[in-house]
Amino acid sequence: MAVMKFGGTSVGTAQAMQQAISIVAREKENGVPLVVLSACSGITNKLIKIADAAGRSAMDEAMALAGEVRRHHLELAAALVSDNVLRNELCAKIDAFAARLDMLVKGIEIVGELTERSKDMFCSFGELLSTTVFAAAMKDRGYDAEWLDVRQVMITDDNFGFARPLNDICLDNVRTIIRPVLQRGTIVITQGYIGATADGRTTTLGRGGSDFSAALLGAWLDENSIQIWTDVDGVMTCDPRVVPEARSIRVMTFTEAAELAYLGAKVLHPDTIAPAVEKDIPVYVLNSWHPDAKGTVITNDPERLAGMSYGGLVKSIAVKKGQCIINIRSNRMLGRHGFMNELFDVFSRYGVSVEMISTSEVSVSLTVDEQSFSEELIGDLKSFSDVEIEHNVATISVVGDNLRMSRGVAGRIFSSLKDVNIRMISQGASEINVGCVVEECEVVTAVRNLHHEFFSALETEGIFEVPAGKP
Ligand code: ASP
Ligand code: MG
Repeated sequence: MAVMKFGGTSVGTAQAMQQAISIVAREKENGVPLVVLSACSGITNKLIKIADAAGRSAMDEAMALAGEVRRHHLELAAALVSDNVLRNELCAKIDAFAARLDMLVKGIEIVGELTERSKDMFCSFGELLSTTVFAAAMKDRGYDAEWLDVRQVMITDDNFGFARPLNDICLDNVRTIIRPVLQRGTIVITQGYIGATADGRTTTLGRGGSDFSAALLGAWLDENSIQIWTDVDGVMTCDPRVVPEARSIRVMTFTEAAELAYLGAKVLHPDTIAPAVEKDIPVYVLNSWHPDAKGTVITNDPERLAGMSYGGLVKSIAVKKGQCIINIRSNRMLGRHGFMNELFDVFSRYGVSVEMISTSEVSVSLTVDEQSFSEELIGDLKSFSDVEIEHNVATISVVGDNLRMSRGVAGRIFSSLKDVNIRMISQGASEINVGCVVEECEVVTAVRNLHHEFFSALETEGIFEVPAGKP
């Protein structure tokens, strides 16, 4: 059986939902799935805007946006549910959620303060609404499906905005609440992203948290696969907007996926799939608009990975823009200990995460996200070293498990970048990535050259696949 998670764009419109429903229906032939949904695309952002507006007492703005949220779901109901009784029931449920949302807006205005806790309440409406519509639409098509409020199951700590599940309680809940329903042959439709504390206060797992929900539920249920349905053909060899010839990667390891995510690819966040990794459950990344394409499977299963040796030297190229390099030089580094400690202490005091790093005996170069850059931090660094900053750079990382066993890869990487001004180089300790930093204006050239070097000779069969709908 599978846990099937559909992202915002895969349930954002009536057409998308219809498509998702047919995918769920098809899966049912293999076993009764648990369906986990995101909010319709754009809705979570809108809910956050509503919350902010309410917090500023901008009532007109908040109410107008809340009206849009209600209307969007009523339109979905009209388009997706043809049975009058079912549709009226659904509209009543949507209206009930909308009324609660309005009440929340008014409540915040009266209290005059928006807390993390109430923000989570706002955000929960997106998933509650999308799943309510989806479940009704499935029933309308005659499927045996049941809506489940995941807050009965996903019990978390009270770290609002970034809550973590209480494993043992959730495991118990999944076994007693979800499993019996699936066992009697009923498809369960539930929310990603949200949960509740033991005393019933709504929480969220952090933005993009639905994937995490799906992995957790899959692990607790001990399902044999987790399917993440999105609007791209799985994990790609690089961003198809940069390189139109980008290919979809058939198989990759959990480590590769994690590394790629850290390095800026829009893959699953590594923490997201951790529960699946622990249980060795393969995670499929699939495109709901091309359901027959094979997508990507992320797994550590040696049998599946056997195919990886096929040309799979470099798996993917990840890019992170919006970075800046900080070059730190100090004579005091020479032959002295404790300098790095002093240096990183500054970053830790400011809570700034260091991304890429390379060092010699007298200098350290590192990159940080532009957004976390602060003059105060630089001031502190300058108190004990010479500091130079380069803004508007991007890190480019070449990732692949087979990199560590192969000779000559670095040579190929850097000869393909011979016309690019490389500002910094680093090889990850995991040896499965080689990274460099270039000016943002050179990213396209650099990535195209790298992609050409490592992927152009590959046939389309085997581990890499031409995305569906592409020549
Ligand atoms: N709807 C939530 C968000 O937009 C969770 C998710 O889509 O994964 O962040
Ligand atoms: Mg999402």
